[in-house]
Amino acid sequence: MYSITCAECGDVFTASRSATTCGTRCRKRRSRRLASATRARLDERIRQLARLHDATFDEALRLGSVDAALPELHRLGAELLRLVDERPVSH
Ligand SMILES: [Zn+2]
Repeated sequence: MYSITCAECGDVFTASRSATTCGTRCRKRRSRRLASATRARLDERIRQLARLHDATFDEALRLGSVDAALPELHRLGAELLRLVDERPVSH
């Protein structure tokens, strides 16, 4: 048996195998908390990328070279789509 400190509530418990939480309640709570933190982090990155995409487009328009900026706009757009797909679903 292992003596383990629950990563969610801090209680010490024993388990026959490696575990991070003391039970179902803490496992679900921890899972929701981590998913929420991941969502918040991805949402912020998505906002940053959207601003960068807009700024790149505006700058390209100003310089009259949207064609030259297209590869960067595509790259930013692809990263945005990937992050939106990766974002955990809210419960
Ligand atoms: Zn716990």
